[in-house]
Amino acid sequence: MHFDRDVPERSFSSHAPGYWKNQPSVNWDSWQWQLQNRINDLPSLENHLRLTREERSGILLSGNKLAMAITPHFLNLIDRDDPDCPIRRQVIPRIEETVEADYEMADPCGEDGDMPVPGLVHRYPDRVNFLVTDRCASYCRYCTRSRVVSGAGTQHLETEFEAAFNYLEEHTEVRDVLLSGGDPLLFSDGKLERILRRLRAIEHIEFVRIGTRVPIFLPQRITPELCAMLRQFHPLFISVHTNHPRELTSEVKQALERLADAGIPLGNQSVLLRGVNDSLDVMKVLVHKLLRCRVRPYYLYQMDLILGSSHLRVPVSRGLEIIQGLRGHTTGYAVPTYVIDAPGGGGKVPVHPDTVIQRNEERIIVRNYEGKLFEYPEPAAEFASLGAFLP
Ligand SMILES: *Cc1c(COP(=O)(O)O)cnc(C)c1O
Repeated sequence: MHFDRDVPERSFSSHAPGYWKNQPSVNWDSWQWQLQNRINDLPSLENHLRLTREERSGILLSGNKLAMAITPHFLNLIDRDDPDCPIRRQVIPRIEETVEADYEMADPCGEDGDMPVPGLVHRYPDRVNFLVTDRCASYCRYCTRSRVVSGAGTQHLETEFEAAFNYLEEHTEVRDVLLSGGDPLLFSDGKLERILRRLRAIEHIEFVRIGTRVPIFLPQRITPELCAMLRQFHPLFISVHTNHPRELTSEVKQALERLADAGIPLGNQSVLLRGVNDSLDVMKVLVHKLLRCRVRPYYLYQMDLILGSSHLRVPVSRGLEIIQGLRGHTTGYAVPTYVIDAPGGGGKVPVHPDTVIQRNEERIIVRNYEGKLFEYPEPAAEFASLGAFLP
């Protein structure tokens, strides 16, 4: 397939069946078929794409770190003639993954140190991140959990479900559970339903959400049956993960609409990636397309300091420029919060373009999106109580 580089995709086109035009649609539309036919070795990938030397060596080495897997649906989005295609950089390993900067870490967000039970990350006072699986539909090369995800490396995720449920039952301060991994939507409807039912039986858990890239990698998984099952567990939110507007195909849009129609509020998390979405033009098209799919841009992540990820890292100054180019210039709902997940385990810290120019006891001076300055007076102490004016 070939795509025009300079025009980010503003419309929702379909790229199916692409290389699989001889497959009957019962196969193509089946999420099990998509998973069984993932591209996960060099010869199968070379059947479809012209690879660079950097990619070929990267693929050969990925088997002992983070496996390669690409669903047929997602492979069709790759431009076979463009070595800098923004889709291929996300899922095709490169030799640069073997280059490790001295500040990079296997566990950049210090999660292993915040696990009271294997698989349950409890960092913030009132919410937990429950890692329910180590498998995904496809593997992002910049995965924050590449140390355990895909099963290729030496460290493994060994979630202790019963111990985790017991911990949650005992810890009445936990009101929010985020199911993540790996990708929870790879579970069968039945298995996912049992987990959700168990969580919902815990009275103090008010809010449940799922972090997933399945609607993007594997839109076939978002069946009416799945949506009917999920809607029993409201309030249930879903955060998806898209980085580039081309990922929002017509099939993905339909899958997202199906989730929204089931009453599930949708958010999006993007990772700022070099050569993928490190430009205002691309990001603006992405956030506008997300709103059209009824998805609210939630976070834009500065990429975590994962081992072997330097080739994808973007300076924070560029991230700030992108946020500055969005805020005020477009719909407020379209502007994500830009965050750094503090290395070593400090949690997510928002970083904002400077809008406060000066602040003292008397006034604050702020800068608007056009760069103009405005003054807002602080309330004077003598007005704080009306009583001061009474005789
Ligand atoms: C991101 C994260 C959450 C959820 O954070 P929100 O800001 O509420 O979306 C919870 N726990 C951990 C460990 C996280 O990394």
